[in-house]
Amino acid sequence: MASGRVVVVGSLNVDATSYVERFPAPGETIVGRDFGTALGGKGANQAVAAHLAGADVEFVARVGDDANATLARSVLAGFGLAIDGVVGVADAPTGVAQITVADSGENTIVVTSGANLALTPGVLDDVRASLADAAVVLTQGELPVATIERLAELCASLGVRFVLNLAPPVVVSPDALAVCDPLVVNEHEARAVGIGRDVPEGAPLEDWLSHAAAAVGRVARSVVVTLGAAGAVAASPVGAWAEPAPEVAVVDTTGAGDAFTGTLAAFLAEGRTLAESMRIAVAAGALAVQARGTVDSYAPRAAVLAAALDDETRRAEGATPA
Ligand code: ADP
Repeated sequence: MASGRVVVVGSLNVDATSYVERFPAPGETIVGRDFGTALGGKGANQAVAAHLAGADVEFVARVGDDANATLARSVLAGFGLAIDGVVGVADAPTGVAQITVADSGENTIVVTSGANLALTPGVLDDVRASLADAAVVLTQGELPVATIERLAELCASLGVRFVLNLAPPVVVSPDALAVCDPLVVNEHEARAVGIGRDVPEGAPLEDWLSHAAAAVGRVARSVVVTLGAAGAVAASPVGAWAEPAPEVAVVDTTGAGDAFTGTLAAFLAEGRTLAESMRIAVAAGALAVQARGTVDSYAPRAAVLAAALDDETRRAEGATPA
């Protein structure tokens, strides 16, 4: 199947995780039990997900000139992603997330953006030709707001589909939100932009449908709200759809939203409809929660498509009268 290009302009971090019995008090040194490093940052995660989903991905990111940059590039290359757009800057470290996980299951996280802050609006002028040639341009709330807004403006003027995952829910201009097609948010992020403010926590999928539909044209060109274990809803000028997630054995939900969004962008870039792309993205998210890790838990295209088909079959059978 022909696959359109997805340009992801996004964050890249190296997640450094220490596993400890309990958190140290200020001034105290404790001994960790285990340690691991992994690729992170929503941009990197979504670029990997879109690539695994079959898209031709260009990832525009900034790293430092350090060992973490080498690590990040080698993980990306290991997935088969082109790394030409992952450019090193001299005067900042590669973004890092220092994570501590205690036996209680609680964690503390310190994110140092470092080289990610070099993704200024000016960078977009250098990649203008790539953006113009993309089927979908994808970004996230982890970028500097001025860069998100400039990217939205550029995509609008170039006539390129702009997908924004507003995570975290930073305040971007209404003009930038207006061109999102879709704006992808989880339920907390949705409320932050005025979608579904009065929908109670844990409400069923169907309760979100009318809110997503009401946001079309008011907030963004189209809207997707992800609702964790419940699934997701989407709305565009031609309709509104709910896609329940399958019931699965959850191992680790980290990065499920990124698996969802990267997959969604990849299938939109192929020319699939928003409803169908969301259906496949829900399957990708559900697969990602069944394995440990972030990008390491992402399934390849064939497995995602097979799972999406299974979910559909199961639902059709469930709907058949006995
Ligand atoms: P975020 O991590 O950004 O808050 P969500 O928690 O809404 O995003 O998850 C994104 C998608 O991942 C969901 O729409 C769903 O498809 C899938 N997902 C998340 N949690 C589960 C779960 N417990 N069971 C099945 N699918 C899940």
